[in-house]
Amino acid sequence: MKSHKLLMIPGPIEFDPAVLAAMSVPTSSHTDPAFIQTFGEALQKMRTVFQSPNGQPFIVAASGTFGMDVAAANLVEAGDRVLLLNIGYFSERFGEILECYGAQVTQIKAEVGNRPDPQQVEEELKKGGYKALFFSHVDTSTGVLNDVPALARLAHQYGALCVVDGVCSVAAEELRMEEWGVDVALTASQKAIGVPPGLALWMVSQRALEARRRRKSPVPNYYGDWLRWLPVMQAHEASQFDYFATPAINLIRALNVSLSQIVAEGIENRYARHRRMSHVFKAAMTAIELDQIPVSEAVAAHTLTAVRYPKGIQAADFLPRVAQEEVIVSGGLLPPIKQEYFRVGHMGNISFGDLIGTISAIERALYSLGYRFAVGSGVAAAQRAIQENGVA
Ligand SMILES: *Cc1c(COP(=O)(O)O)cnc(C)c1O
Repeated sequence: MKSHKLLMIPGPIEFDPAVLAAMSVPTSSHTDPAFIQTFGEALQKMRTVFQSPNGQPFIVAASGTFGMDVAAANLVEAGDRVLLLNIGYFSERFGEILECYGAQVTQIKAEVGNRPDPQQVEEELKKGGYKALFFSHVDTSTGVLNDVPALARLAHQYGALCVVDGVCSVAAEELRMEEWGVDVALTASQKAIGVPPGLALWMVSQRALEARRRRKSPVPNYYGDWLRWLPVMQAHEASQFDYFATPAINLIRALNVSLSQIVAEGIENRYARHRRMSHVFKAAMTAIELDQIPVSEAVAAHTLTAVRYPKGIQAADFLPRVAQEEVIVSGGLLPPIKQEYFRVGHMGNISFGDLIGTISAIERALYSLGYRFAVGSGVAAAQRAIQENGVA
């Protein structure tokens, strides 16, 4: 047996050995010039990964939820009207955060597995008075992908800031922040960025920074005020030291290694590879006659797949049975349908071999629990999908 089971959930993901090795070194002082250099390099690489050469990158010790929290805290003042597109669990969370800061939140809620139509969003924005549009790029509970360029265009057209929860998309799904006009995109280290949990990363457009500067009331969040972190980020990018709160030194070393790998692969290649992995995995699920939560391929994410159980299969039996096959997959997350589906993450530096192993573990688990289908047909469909594109 291997020393660990293959972790195929939508974050944390499988981490590259070189990334993990970068953490296993004696912790330096945060004032060490070599560390300051590493921190600065990581910030610069974020500009490439987020496709935002003129944005302001931030790296702070926290989880992804903190990036959501501070986007709301910095951009929203009590009484501001904001529009939130709700496609699942993490959209609900964004709504709660926004209300925490006194926003007047209007929601457009899509049916489970679907996303709001841009036309519907335009009708709402047309009414005027919205300070910002908030939505998830990928909602990790449903595996639904939003149409970021269309939504960002609408936000700009109607004078609203565009804030994207990219925790399950950045560094895997196509995201051209500056070209598309996204004002804030945020993520966490443990998803497609490929670093153990503990870092929140976000990128802010100059327009959004300006909106923060122009606000009338103070930001009601001490650790999360962008302007407390801004001088620290600017200093490190210029190879200089500045302090607000101690950075997660070993995690930032690992982050710089992972971002280097992402930049070396090429961000366009990385988008294409994630589309391919998604296509291969989804083809296998279709071949064994399992439905997915997203209503169509056009609205489905490429970072994970949300799959409905066949009749008679229970999460409580299935998940541990797959784990016996040395693979970890996730259960459902969206409360009303939580027991009806499972989720498989396919982000980061995984191989086609990892995908095939996961598909075969799922097949064996389903068969042993009584689901009758042609065992091996999922693996065969995946092999064909890999073959059609040539082996990477
Ligand atoms: C994982 C996730 C989050 C929450 O991130 P944490 O690091 O768990 O705080 C938020 N939004 C989306 C889309 C996610 O996938």
